[in-house]
Amino acid sequence: MEIVRIKDLRTSYNGHIAIKNVSFNIEKGEYVCLVGENGSGKSTLLKTLVGLNKKDNGEIILNIEPDKVSYLAQNNMTEINFPATAKEIIMTGVQKHKKLPFYNKEDHEAFEEICNELSIKSIINKQISELSGGQRQRVMLARALIRKPELLILDEPCSGLDSIITKEFYKILDKLNKEKGLTIIMATHDLNEIESENIRVICMATVVKFDGNVIEWNKQEK
Ligand code: ADP
Ligand code: MG
Repeated sequence: MEIVRIKDLRTSYNGHIAIKNVSFNIEKGEYVCLVGENGSGKSTLLKTLVGLNKKDNGEIILNIEPDKVSYLAQNNMTEINFPATAKEIIMTGVQKHKKLPFYNKEDHEAFEEICNELSIKSIINKQISELSGGQRQRVMLARALIRKPELLILDEPCSGLDSIITKEFYKILDKLNKEKGLTIIMATHDLNEIESENIRVICMATVVKFDGNVIEWNKQEK
């Protein structure tokens, strides 16, 4: 089943075209890595997809409910320093529009489940400011996953993290994709740290420069 359809998309900032002629479709269960140099339009594409940037032109069709899309922005946690515990941050992920900000039994069960899955039970009552970069990123992933999305969109989630932490983070994503059929679209610089071969690579350079399996991508780079 196709869950995302992008056709002839263009987004610009005050006349500066950041992405153009972008067209591709994404099937349910796909794991898509967006690559490309800095400034190639990866973040713009993801922001346009989730509605944070206005498109000038083209079409975006999402065949799932907006509530079933979770987005983890670039550099989302690097500077965070306000008084909140990991649990408080994670729980905000279940809040939906037009819903009172109270948590029900189901929400608490989802919280337990996600903490087990991401092995973060020992840090849930810690202040977010006390956590390491890798722990913060897991907390943000838990926040994105607690509402049980069908589509997870991540923008360079491991920038600034060391190689071991990065690999562990990608292992979690791999598992979610393989075992739960979660559809993933992720901008990344570190394809080499991802073990799965079942990855579709889309390379941006304002336009789509390459779209195919990671094995083909690795071949053509040599
Ligand atoms: P990437 O995520 O691949 O590094 P971006 O989508 O952030 O690329 O940027 C694409 C282009 O759009 C770049 O030329 C960048 O300078 C420009 N750009 C991105 N965000 C803004 C913004 N908020 N205002 C003006 N220009 C921007
Ligand atoms: Mg970016």
